[in-house]
Amino acid sequence: PLNLSNRVALITGGASGIGKGAALAFAEHGARLALVDVVQEDLDKVAEEVRRKGTQVETFVADVSDADQVRRACDGAVEKFGRLDIVYANAGVNGVWAPIEELSPEEFDKTIAINLRGTFLTIKYAVPHLRRQGGAVVVTSSVNGTRTFSNTGATAYSTSKAGQVAMAKMLAVELGNYGIRVNVICPGAISTNIGENTEQRDVDQIKVPAEYPEGTSSLTGSKPGTIDQVGQLALFLVSDMAAHITGEVVYIDAGSSLV
Ligand code: NAD
Repeated sequence: PLNLSNRVALITGGASGIGKGAALAFAEHGARLALVDVVQEDLDKVAEEVRRKGTQVETFVADVSDADQVRRACDGAVEKFGRLDIVYANAGVNGVWAPIEELSPEEFDKTIAINLRGTFLTIKYAVPHLRRQGGAVVVTSSVNGTRTFSNTGATAYSTSKAGQVAMAKMLAVELGNYGIRVNVICPGAISTNIGENTEQRDVDQIKVPAEYPEGTSSLTGSKPGTIDQVGQLALFLVSDMAAHITGEVVYIDAGSSLV
């Protein structure tokens, strides 16, 4: 039931981190892949690795916050492969983390545009294709969207991540009529490149209670998770093993957000 050999999967943010982990996991089980990201050279590197698993890959340069670019990527995948079965709306940025007085409206909008509007556009332009035979959508939100608010200054990020959860649940109901499942992955800290593009501005000025949870886990201490671990979870959720699961939010944080 984990076999994806007749399936085509589109993954946004597929050139790095969690998107790459999912690409390798899906490829391992035979899916053909459409990888979407912003830099062609980065896409090429992952595509090369994926091809070594013996499957076909196409790459699409698109900014997920741009409607035309996302529509072209979704349609392009179907032109190349003839179908689309799986969509992983995963691209995202941390953006600027700062006290609210110092977070500009433009900075707020940019994070929302990539993380939340990007998820909307990815699913919107995939649905006409998914509807033909049914399919599976997965969204990468975060523990920040629902449980862990100790990352001070992440107002825009957490808002975008919470919005993704609401959107996914809403769409699980709407798209169930077409045999399309929609589920959410909420990772805790995972080793990826996301921190490199984070701007933290004066977040130490935000006072939080001393007993506020640190986001570490009794299972792993402060050791972050891996892209392979998240990739395996995504694989399960898009596979027929999860045929009866939709509208679910699955945490992959070693329990760090429980306390
Ligand atoms: P990453 O930076 O390694 O990968 C993200 C990818 O998304 C990059 O390749 C980047 O180029 C791409 N991207 C960024 N903006 C884009 C845009 N406008 N259009 C298309 N692609 C774009 O980071 P990651 O950790 O793998 O992040 C993937 C997702 O996981 C994000 O949604 C992030 O919020 C979420 N997440 C990550 C962690 C973590 O600890 N790494 C925790 C919780 C949630």
